[in-house]
Amino acid sequence: MTSLAETDDPKAFAERAGRELEEASALTILTWAADTFGRRFCVTSSMEDAVVAHLASRAMPGVDVVFLDTGYHFPETIGTRDAVDAVMDVNVLTLSPRQSVAEQDAEYGPRLHDRDPDLCCALRKIKPLEEGLSGYDAWATGLRRDESPSRANTPVVGWDMKRGKIKVSPIARWTQDDVDAYVSEHGVLTNPLLTDGYASVGCAPCTRRVLDGEDARAGRWAGRDKTECGLHG
Ligand code: SF4
Repeated sequence: MTSLAETDDPKAFAERAGRELEEASALTILTWAADTFGRRFCVTSSMEDAVVAHLASRAMPGVDVVFLDTGYHFPETIGTRDAVDAVMDVNVLTLSPRQSVAEQDAEYGPRLHDRDPDLCCALRKIKPLEEGLSGYDAWATGLRRDESPSRANTPVVGWDMKRGKIKVSPIARWTQDDVDAYVSEHGVLTNPLLTDGYASVGCAPCTRRVLDGEDARAGRWAGRDKTECGLHG
């Protein structure tokens, strides 16, 4: 097992692993992460679906699945988290921002997400995730190259410069059809909003249904330049 502290050049280590695992299956990539980092590896999930959590539980039963509860989630998203926790062989950990929505409203004014979504995401997503990942050397995401132009170059294993961690994206090469096939084959839990016109599920105030022909993330921060919350920048 490898600790990042023992690696002279973790960025080079990550990039080499990314090249070597580029053609590997998602399960092989996650098995490599589990074998390499053990309990210092976790999965993050927005609870849009439980595909990566399911794959990771096959590679490492009882794996930590980190969920960021911004306080603005749809009830369906919280329900998906609870169902994943109840039925899958994973350890769901919920992270919360330091302030409740009411406390944030009192300090910054209501509907900060409309006036300054970057600050809102920084307070409710980026900071809590940074703190929550501090005990891990590597984390897995469900990023896919086909989701949007900003994700087109996602490596299957890369170096997360901001956090100083290895970032694993085991389904980076998958298409939506691959996801649908895996969900169907393994009976994986998905967020009910995915069958109600939403192609990507985030916080309720910043997510709308997508229109025909739009990419999967077009419903996130619609009408703004913003396309990412900063977790993956
Ligand atoms: Fe705030 Fe919207 Fe970001 Fe959620 S997605 S943290 S509501 S700005």
